[in-house]
Amino acid sequence: MILDWLPFKIPAISTGEMLRAEIAAGTELGERTKAVIAAGGLVGDDIIDALLAARIAKPDCKDGFLLDGYPRTVPQAEFLDRLLAERKIPAPIVIHLDVRLDALVGRMMCRRMCGECGRMFNILSKRPRVPGRCDACGGPLTVRKDDREEVIKERLRTYELQTQPVLNHYTDGDYHHIPADMSTSYIFDEITRVLGPRLPVGVKK
Ligand SMILES: [Zn+2]
Repeated sequence: MILDWLPFKIPAISTGEMLRAEIAAGTELGERTKAVIAAGGLVGDDIIDALLAARIAKPDCKDGFLLDGYPRTVPQAEFLDRLLAERKIPAPIVIHLDVRLDALVGRMMCRRMCGECGRMFNILSKRPRVPGRCDACGGPLTVRKDDREEVIKERLRTYELQTQPVLNHYTDGDYHHIPADMSTSYIFDEITRVLGPRLPVGVKK
């Protein structure tokens, strides 16, 4: 998916979305993934790494790409280092969107996903025009399996164990901390301030 509100012409790559597509397509990988996600765990590094390596080799990534939800573990970060070096791609610009725990849980519990097209809504911050219905396709909005409270708590525990150390992997690099309890326009401006001077690719405005 290209995030068309972003002023940069680079694809936004969400490994979570790629996995959900596998699940929707009912592939063997999708079936294996489904069980892990439903239990609040993280899918194995080997699967995610292979998906990612294939994705960033596509032509739309030649001017850069945005990774969302990857790397989530130190071994994934080390895999990414090797992959970028092999393909002579510069080291990443890291943006850490930092949200307080209670705010995070609240946000996730308010998320709704369209069962038909996968668009995300939020009953607090990004309400659908018609309650319970997708703006784009009219499909029914549902709570994602991994956004239920007990699953969220397990995901956060996994995050602390596996993902917190990933920050240490990057803090000496091109690392930017952005407090993300703020408004979306503040966060957008901060991200644009970091990336704006760095991405020579076509700005749409
Ligand atoms: Zn929809």
